[in-house]
Amino acid sequence: MINIILFGPPGSGKGTQAKKLADKYGFLHISTGDLFRYEIGNKTPLGLEAKSYIDKGQLVPDSVTIGMLRKKVESSPDANGIIFDGFPRNVLQAEALDELLAESDDRISALIQLNVSDDEIVKRILERSKTSGRSDDADESIIRNRIDVYNRETAPVFAYYSEDGRSHAVEGIGQIDEIFARLCNLVDTL
Ligand code: AMP
Repeated sequence: MINIILFGPPGSGKGTQAKKLADKYGFLHISTGDLFRYEIGNKTPLGLEAKSYIDKGQLVPDSVTIGMLRKKVESSPDANGIIFDGFPRNVLQAEALDELLAESDDRISALIQLNVSDDEIVKRILERSKTSGRSDDADESIIRNRIDVYNRETAPVFAYYSEDGRSHAVEGIGQIDEIFARLCNLVDTL
């Protein structure tokens, strides 16, 4: 079983590329951002709690996020590999993910980071806000806050998996299919 963390700042193309990888390789695609938006859409207590953080560009508390992720993973025992998109977002979540996978003698095969500059991210997310309907996409100061949170809390996850050589990076700038080909080249070596 191949389990991949698709990694990178907000707006780096994780969601787009994760969907394409899931289609091509038959992986289950788990996006914690999508799971939260589903809960928000259904006005569940979890959704209402998450919304107060998401709207400010902050991370939802670990206990809530890890519990939701665990439920999703445990409800899909037959998955032929998982692609994690937007999780883990800090080292504590990475440790929790490792423990969860170890319970079924599984592990992360690779973390793949999409490299995109901050200015390109802001440009892309503002463009996406025209159609995404996401309140956290429409305001530049919230986007900048999401980037700060990424640099402070999420970026160290790259080092966490690089200790034993599992972290990789690919250029995240270019045509969608060009970037996809770079990712496939890497996934084919796993
Ligand atoms: P995304 O769709 O991945 O950009 O996530 C949108 C928002 O959902 C983030 O800015 C966070 O507020 C929240 N979120 C998504 N995934 C996580 C996570 N793993 N940990 C904490 N908050 C998260």
